[in-house]
Amino acid sequence: MSFPKTFEELGLSADTLAALQQKGFTEPSPIQAQTIPLLLAGDTDVVGQAQTGTGKTAAFGLPLIERITTIADTPQAIILAPTRELAIQVAEEINTFQTKRKLRITAIYGGQSIVEQIRQLRRGIDIVVGTPGRILDHLERKTINLSNVKFVVLDEADEMLNMGFVEDIETILEHVPDERRMLLFSATMPDRILQLARNYMGTYKLVSVKSKQLTTELTRQVYYEIKPNDKLTALCRVIDFDVEFYGIVFCNTKANVDEVTEQLASRGYAAEALHGDISQNQRERILQKFKAKQVNIVVATDVAARGIDVNNLTHVINYSLPHDPEVYVHRIGRTGRAGREGTAISFVSRADRRKLDFIEKVAKAKIQRAQLPSVKELIGTKKTRIIDEVLNEVKNGVHFTYSNIAEELLAESDPVSLVASILKLSYQNELDPNNYIEVEPDLVSSKDDRKKTKKKVKLNIELGRKDDFTFKKLIHLIENGLRIKGLPSRDVQVFDRSSFVICFEDEANRIAEYMERQYGKVTRQRKQLVYISAVK
Ligand code: ADP
Ligand code: MG
Repeated sequence: MSFPKTFEELGLSADTLAALQQKGFTEPSPIQAQTIPLLLAGDTDVVGQAQTGTGKTAAFGLPLIERITTIADTPQAIILAPTRELAIQVAEEINTFQTKRKLRITAIYGGQSIVEQIRQLRRGIDIVVGTPGRILDHLERKTINLSNVKFVVLDEADEMLNMGFVEDIETILEHVPDERRMLLFSATMPDRILQLARNYMGTYKLVSVKSKQLTTELTRQVYYEIKPNDKLTALCRVIDFDVEFYGIVFCNTKANVDEVTEQLASRGYAAEALHGDISQNQRERILQKFKAKQVNIVVATDVAARGIDVNNLTHVINYSLPHDPEVYVHRIGRTGRAGREGTAISFVSRADRRKLDFIEKVAKAKIQRAQLPSVKELIGTKKTRIIDEVLNEVKNGVHFTYSNIAEELLAESDPVSLVASILKLSYQNELDPNNYIEVEPDLVSSKDDRKKTKKKVKLNIELGRKDDFTFKKLIHLIENGLRIKGLPSRDVQVFDRSSFVICFEDEANRIAEYMERQYGKVTRQRKQLVYISAVK
């Protein structure tokens, strides 16, 4: 089946086409191409599903503008949305679809003065966009009259269900004439949504735009095995590692969002929290700061993050893995947009393993295991950055205000000590390894591993007592660091110049990987720090 390729072909009026041109919409998105003709004609109910950011607002908003022709005293369409932010966004977006004709469109939500809302409702509104709670409030006060409503739209229906609005919605529907036309839009289509559709829509048309690919190729998806207690350190490491870090950190609960934000703020990071308890004003201020990059980290719950439309995020961090694979897809869909590459990082503890497998399977995502940058690597990149910054400043030209002092200083001290002291003054302890905590991965317990593999190997390590490497160090690393337990002590030996461990192959790989990482520089110098040879 082919769908109209232009807005003209969809059958929109000249006025609306002009508005779209002004907005810079050149062609309809798939969900728009498929639902708009359906809504402009006839009277079937419609359930529309398409990913976030695919233009669902216009898919129902444009037909509403076209089909509501009279200016009446009471609302002719009611759109329900899960949050204030979304209600405002939808009202604003639909308002921009009209040029000459001025249907009155207003967002009605909690937290805003109810008296002012009552005044607006009295003056007359054609399209109401509201959060269920506040609409219900008005119904109880009899300050809103829905008896003239011809269209009911449930926007972000999945989210409204998640937030427990079902009963509110049902009560609202009781106040709307039975002949109303009902539209339901959602990014995901769990059974509960179809159930709601069946209950309230009789016969309906389902328009579902399946995204070809659930996740974008521009997003690199990795996970780090992190113990719950190390998550904060790991988060700081990720942020420190990328000077350009600009991302959203997702947590599953409000309390967790607050805790992480506070911890980040107390460590000097520019982070803000977004969740349902943040006031509307506050929220708008935060979003503005985030867009302006005055704040480069937003810690958020899923619902609160819905309204954020920022295209150039470098990172999405799953501080906690979501329970629902679709939520995972939504989260990571916020990076890798507009042709820019992004990274989605999930912190996965041992307890999360199954959840991760489930997400990978359902979301058809390839999430690769990766290593959190070590303290060494972090300091390495920081060094490079400092050198870049300083040389860049040198390139910027002579700093007359400082050149006299520079000469005085050079007369007093040798250049190396001088530059080093100045670096110390500007970068303080940034390069001091003692400032950072090494994080060991939270690996699957070796019992499980032992069941999976049988082959034992001998891992030779070219490090010995001469290198200050001791049996104690090695066994500590194996048992505490890598959680490989129960190796007989004869299988772990440290000599003067070398050491070995006899263990299962995957364990050997992990030890080797760790050794490479920890003693990276040595590897390069000695060519072969570790090698593995199979034991028969
Ligand atoms: P959804 O509700 O599906 O998440 P929105 O309706 O919020 O998506 O639209 C996402 C963004 O895309 C908005 O900024 C909107 O103005 C823009 N948009 C929608 N349709 C088009 C189009 N046909 N062409 C260009 N931009 C569009
Ligand atoms: Mg939407």
